Amino acid sequence: MDPFVYLDNNATTMPSPAVREAMLPFLGAEYGNPSSLHAPGGRAAKALGRAREQVAALLGARPAEVVFTSCGSESDAAAILGALEAAGERRHVVTTTVEHPAVRTLLRWLRGKGRIELTEVGVARDGTLDAAAVLAAVRPDTALVSVMWANNESGVVHPVEALAEGCRAKGVPFHVDAVQAAGKVPVDLGKVPADLLAVSAHKFHGPKGVGALVVRRGARWKPVLVGGHQEKERRAGTENVPGIVGTGVAAAEALAALPGEERVGALRDRMEAAVLAGVPGAQRNGASRPRVPNTTNLAFPGVEGEAVLLQLDRRGIAVSSGSACTAGSLDPSHVLTAMGVPERLARSSIRVSLSRFTTGEEADRAAAAIVEVVAALRALAPAHGERR
Ligand code: PLP
Repeated sequence: MDPFVYLDNNATTMPSPAVREAMLPFLGAEYGNPSSLHAPGGRAAKALGRAREQVAALLGARPAEVVFTSCGSESDAAAILGALEAAGERRHVVTTTVEHPAVRTLLRWLRGKGRIELTEVGVARDGTLDAAAVLAAVRPDTALVSVMWANNESGVVHPVEALAEGCRAKGVPFHVDAVQAAGKVPVDLGKVPADLLAVSAHKFHGPKGVGALVVRRGARWKPVLVGGHQEKERRAGTENVPGIVGTGVAAAEALAALPGEERVGALRDRMEAAVLAGVPGAQRNGASRPRVPNTTNLAFPGVEGEAVLLQLDRRGIAVSSGSACTAGSLDPSHVLTAMGVPERLARSSIRVSLSRFTTGEEADRAAAAIVEVVAALRALAPAHGERR
């Protein structure tokens, strides 16, 4: 059987061979605690410092601004809770209707507890966000604006530069969840003056269980995980040294590979065009541009996205129906719903996400398989298009 074709890179990516190699010594002989003053501790601290520089370089930040965490969700939570902690009487937060649950669920939970007032700004039918609408929602008591750089389901890129500059002009902290942007499009805090930026290593060929939060110098933010002195007292807890070392290598590789993302975009476009041409009535959810180069979200009226996913899996092709975090739940994707995609169409959708390791042969094989699988499922359900 042909090797497995992995096209679910927005859920997680393969750790690159160099990442694995770099981590190995720190899973063995180099087990020192970076806070210790002896030689093994010093070597671990030096390795952390190197990784901090590599992550900072990927994001256009200063190494001292990088705080290592345990995942993207923790980075987002620390950004939001820390900004609120520093906001004094201000308790209003502006966000969008299409954020990842790491942001959306936390903000709704805080609203439920009466700790914040929340404005969720909607997106257009093609998933694009109007920066002016977000900035217009800012009030004198706004403590934070939190908007993702790129959406995990549609791939649509938000106008983060205008948002960051607008927030700066209004004197409101801006948090950007760049988990799906880092390594796919240039993420440069020199150009996008966000105060807080979250990333997750396993989305750019690093290990799972490592995130980073960039806290820009002068940002209105306070630590929330207090305890030990690690991370310059911004995040207590002994650092995951092997994971962070791997994250540094992944960041360096992602930065070096950024020009190659054009090739990924061309592959994605070729695959998307083949599917749209081969499946009658198929539609793309979300704008063609601006979009991260690796993602396409496609609807196939008359079939269930979940059924397409399972049939593709049987053929050795991994895709997703909606975000990985909502797979298994029967609710249609909140992102597609927020875009105004009718429920029936949202349920018929799959997300295909490539990586720099995806080959042209794999993309073509996946496109052909999708066309065949949808045709076969429609043949089983002759009333397609009329259901629900
Ligand atoms: N933010 C976005 C946009 C994501 O896509 C994800 C993961 O899917 C996260 C945050 C959470 O990252 P992690 O899985 O590292 O907690």
